[in-house]
Amino acid sequence: MPHKGKLLVITGAGLSAESGISTFRGANGLWEDHKIEAICHARSWRSNFDTVHRFYNARRTQLATAKPNAGHEALVEWEARYESILFTQNVDNLLEVAGARKPVHLHGFLPDMRCTACDNVWTIGARAWDQTKECCPACGSRKDVKPFIVFFGEEAPLYRALIEALAIMTDDDVLLIIGTSGVVLPILDIAEKTPGLSILNNLHSEPAIPEDLFDHVFIEPVTSAVDKMDRVLRETLLPRKGAA
Ligand SMILES: [Zn+2]
Repeated sequence: MPHKGKLLVITGAGLSAESGISTFRGANGLWEDHKIEAICHARSWRSNFDTVHRFYNARRTQLATAKPNAGHEALVEWEARYESILFTQNVDNLLEVAGARKPVHLHGFLPDMRCTACDNVWTIGARAWDQTKECCPACGSRKDVKPFIVFFGEEAPLYRALIEALAIMTDDDVLLIIGTSGVVLPILDIAEKTPGLSILNNLHSEPAIPEDLFDHVFIEPVTSAVDKMDRVLRETLLPRKGAA
């Protein structure tokens, strides 16, 4: 019988892969011969200012044509149906385009820019930023403007929200992990500590995620797993008050 409980979701790149979101990195992990970990780094992005902006402009402008897939749509439905909290490592806006109310973007959000001089954050949407001319609308600085992305070597302030949400999970709650390698976030540790039912959906088995830690494992594209995950959720959790 379904019972009262919350749904906590963590998604990664696998969710948006079927929407054609490209990371612009070749098989060698490089973009235009650059190692992204080296140029989009807390210590080095200012000296790679132009390259950093060109790289993120390429990623941001593809948002204009990318479409949410059945995975994003299912997450929006579950967000409305259950007491839930939705964390994503993705910086794209496909959850928002699909209608998600408040996904937590752990690693930043491509449509936004941030000024490191005055901490202003503002939205420019799916367009390129002209780093040679455009300035922070609040303080006028040009050289302090970066994409609103957590770079390598930077702290991810919203990890705190994830840690707090995980800490208050009870054995009535459900943990759902979709499309992540478990390398950046310690999914192994999270799955080991989760007291309730847990579900994993990845395109491939990931060496960093022991699947026997999960109650339900779907190794397949997210768009083909959504109906099965929906069935598990319906069997496990009661809808929130007022939800269909
Ligand atoms: Zn500023």
